[in-house]
Amino acid sequence: MSNAYKQCMEQLDKTCEVVAAINAQGESFSLSNDEIEILKNPKRVLEVSLPVKMDDGTLKVFNAYRVQHNDIRGPFKGGIRFHPQVDLDEVKSLAFWMTFKCAVADIPYGGGKGGVTLNPKEMSQAELERVTRAYVRAISDNVGPQKDVPAPDVYTNSQTMAWFMDEYSRISGHNEPAVVTGKPIEIGGSLGRDTATAQGGFFVFENIFNKMILDKKKAMVAIQGFGNAGMNFAKIAHDAGYNVVAVSDSRGGIFSEEGLDIEKVITHKEKNGSVQDFPAAKNITNEELLELEVEVLVPAALEGVITLDNVEKIKAKLILELANGPVTIEAGEVLHKKGVVFIPDILANSGGVIVSYFEWVQNLRHFYWSKEKIHNLLNEKITNAANLVWERMQKSKIDMRTAAYVVAIERLAKALRVRGV
Ligand code: NAD
Repeated sequence: MSNAYKQCMEQLDKTCEVVAAINAQGESFSLSNDEIEILKNPKRVLEVSLPVKMDDGTLKVFNAYRVQHNDIRGPFKGGIRFHPQVDLDEVKSLAFWMTFKCAVADIPYGGGKGGVTLNPKEMSQAELERVTRAYVRAISDNVGPQKDVPAPDVYTNSQTMAWFMDEYSRISGHNEPAVVTGKPIEIGGSLGRDTATAQGGFFVFENIFNKMILDKKKAMVAIQGFGNAGMNFAKIAHDAGYNVVAVSDSRGGIFSEEGLDIEKVITHKEKNGSVQDFPAAKNITNEELLELEVEVLVPAALEGVITLDNVEKIKAKLILELANGPVTIEAGEVLHKKGVVFIPDILANSGGVIVSYFEWVQNLRHFYWSKEKIHNLLNEKITNAANLVWERMQKSKIDMRTAAYVVAIERLAKALRVRGV
């Protein structure tokens, strides 16, 4: 079992213990061993091989997966990853997280995830298109607007989703935009989907920041990762008047106590390929960024960056897990004991899947909403989730990650109960 999947099982066991303790205090729900067993096992695992003609005429066979973890609350939902390290355990972990993410956000979806083991940097667009179409043909019986609705993930994008939708529509014999989300606007994509993760993360961040009564004027913010999630978050936070003092990418980071002009950093990165060597800022390493004397830390790049090895050096009071899994379970426990609040990934980065849900609803109704409406609906949905998780954290005196899992498990258990196993 991979480390990531082990962490999922540990998190579930830990939450179930907490849930049992809450029950003992007379709360109105419980989780039987059978129900825990259901949540530990994916409902369906598809493992397929994709024979694809390469541009030079040779044939390559790619391994691909679609894991459908749980659909008790609605169709399976989750991205498709194209990466050389994709394996079944990784996809299973990501599918597991999606079930909980959708339950915390209270959107009518279960959890799923897909992946193809390949290196997109070594392939042409035509080859990637053929792989995508072969993948759709291999799993088409098991996906669909009411069954399983994929989306983009690492190294897949709106173009990949356009190929997916087109191939699925050819097989169905009619246009079926609701089979995937994260599509280009021209074929049924939603306004606001491109910045939804960062925007949703920002709504949650501000909500919790205000609850903690931190001082906006004094607060310094450091962000690791300057891609879709990190860069957009930096921009939104900067525009809202927060002092973003450090950002980084895979080459390293930059720091300026007076604050960074994020628009200028974006231009600098576009020109030079990295945020490093930005004028009027000091180059720092990614490790140094995590340990800065700041109030707010936003890991928005990789998983497992805050561990028992560095957790004692973390000085932030509030951590927003915009990436998936940046704080390990053990490190999270240390942070909680130190009084640091960390907003868990399944809440912090759920803006992407929430706006995906809006895209799906618009596709099913063939009626499209304004950016302002999406923005307001996202705010409402994610703020409700943040308030509920915060209340659960306060009431049960647990860390925020466990609180988010408890909220998710309450919803999943109730749905299991009324449907019957
Ligand atoms: P991305 O590929 O757009 O950006 C990733 C960023 O991380 C890049 O700036 C890259 O330079 C940086 N990076 C890579 N290696 C690094 C390293 N060793 N140290 C520091 N930075 C490094 O990816 P993204 O979409 O922004 O996703 C980032 C994280 O957010 C991932 O964990 C992803 O699963 C999670 N997430 C993203 C979305 C979304 O909608 N984009 C939704 C949910 C979760």
